[in-house]
Amino acid sequence: MKKLLLSLILAIGMLSTPSFSHEHHAIQNVHKKDKIVYITRTGAKYHESSCRYLRQSKIQTTKKEAISNGYDACKVCKP
Ligand SMILES: [Zn+2]
Repeated sequence: MKKLLLSLILAIGMLSTPSFSHEHHAIQNVHKKDKIVYITRTGAKYHESSCRYLRQSKIQTTKKEAISNGYDACKVCKP
């Protein structure tokens, strides 16, 4: 039983790991059609992961989602 509980905890831990806590750039293989981009709490642009405008806040979304929410492409990082 102990082993089952442990694997359950591991599974939950993996699901709830917040991606924004990772400072280094994780290389993501995007298999889906939608490109992963990032928006900020206050801005009206969407950005590449490495963009300097993401220092304040970084909210992961998809390009499609960002566009449908009225966001425009950042002119600095050109996502
Ligand atoms: Zn940008």
